[in-house]
Amino acid sequence: MPNKIIMKTPIAELDGDEMTRILWGLIKEMLILPRVDLKTEYFDLGIENREATGDQVTHDAAQAIARLGVGVKCATITSNTARQREYKLSKLHPSPNATIRAALDGTVFRRPINVSRIRPTVSTWKEPIVIGRHAYGDIYRGAEMIIPGPGTVELVYRDLQGREERRMVADMKEPGIVMGIHNLDDSIRNFARACFLYALDEKLPIWFAAKDTISQTYDGRFKDLFEEVYQQEFKERCDEAGLSYYYTLIDDAVARVMKHQGGFLWACKNYDGDVMSDMIASAAGSLAMMTSVLVSPQGVFEYEAAHGTVQQHYYRWQKGEKTSTNPVALIFAWTGALAKRGELDGTPDLVAFARTLRDASLSTIEEGNMTGDLANLSNPRPEKVLNSWEFLEKVKEKL
Ligand code: NAP
Ligand code: MG
Repeated sequence: MPNKIIMKTPIAELDGDEMTRILWGLIKEMLILPRVDLKTEYFDLGIENREATGDQVTHDAAQAIARLGVGVKCATITSNTARQREYKLSKLHPSPNATIRAALDGTVFRRPINVSRIRPTVSTWKEPIVIGRHAYGDIYRGAEMIIPGPGTVELVYRDLQGREERRMVADMKEPGIVMGIHNLDDSIRNFARACFLYALDEKLPIWFAAKDTISQTYDGRFKDLFEEVYQQEFKERCDEAGLSYYYTLIDDAVARVMKHQGGFLWACKNYDGDVMSDMIASAAGSLAMMTSVLVSPQGVFEYEAAHGTVQQHYYRWQKGEKTSTNPVALIFAWTGALAKRGELDGTPDLVAFARTLRDASLSTIEEGNMTGDLANLSNPRPEKVLNSWEFLEKVKEKL
């Protein structure tokens, strides 16, 4: 066995729950540790340890990601009352992803992993379409009201000195509904920054779409701030990398996406991103073939799989079954983090290892070795459905 690949700086490693925790250990043991002198700062975000530490471990982990610049995270249980009973929790802990997102002020990017045996529902898509979703404000922080009968509805802004500015929303002649929404300039700028950083990193052109013909002030502000960040901070770097920035109306963007070959970043406002990321994920194949990365405006990267802890598979594993759970998105979380670490540290061997492992996973599937979720979508269908252990063994051989 040749010498192991050296890492200069550690990455923050956030372990998680249930079936993904089992796969996490297997991926490290079978694919990474034999080749890499792995350096991580390890945080156990499993539900028992979050309970034992009063969730302090999640905050410590978020700080470590910010300090080290790179993190990799396993899926974790978000507690609800059923989980509280199951794990005898003293209280409901906040979602770890929400805690980390808040600490890093990040934007989430979701990218499907394409393999030729699984054809997207949209026949023109050849390259992945990546969604960058703004995760603050709009209808997710709205105030809503039922209007019971005739009367006027106004927007009122009162500054700290008590001066007021008003806009008429509607002179209602009959019962109806009203909603007030907001966003913040800095949040929009940080969203734009995260999108341009991600696009430069992944060498993707950038689209941003809103509805500024109708919402001239609100969506117009989004359009203007995106343009400002592009012109002042990123245009030169994008030009050098040969990447274009393109603004269009959201309905025009949707029409173009359906005829496009893909291979771009689609920056979406909060609601558009919610809807469009499910559309892309479903049309691209499987949740188990979707990667997710949180990028902060300071250029901190946290990699994970888009799926959850695959709870039902875990219960079957506990009864002794070797489940056919797809580890590909978790492998991609590791390869994304290791490649980024290598890039930042200037250690090309680590980058090369990460790319080789990523490619080995893909060619394993291309050659017809896959787990059950993919076997059902694959054309041609594989002769045999592999369990997770068999699949990882095939990837290891390929590697
Ligand atoms: P899930 O774990 O994503 O699983 C939903 C279903 O999708 C599974 O039952 C399975 O379908 C299929 N699936 C997902 N990943 C798969 C994989 N790698 N291989 C094969 N099939 C896969 O979602 P959930 O059951 O709604 O949530 C379970 C737990 O995960 C919850 O406690 C939730 O809080 C947590 N969660 C965490 C994150 C995160 O940490 N980022 C995200 C989402 C959910 P079949 O059963 O049909 O095989
Ligand atoms: Mg949604």
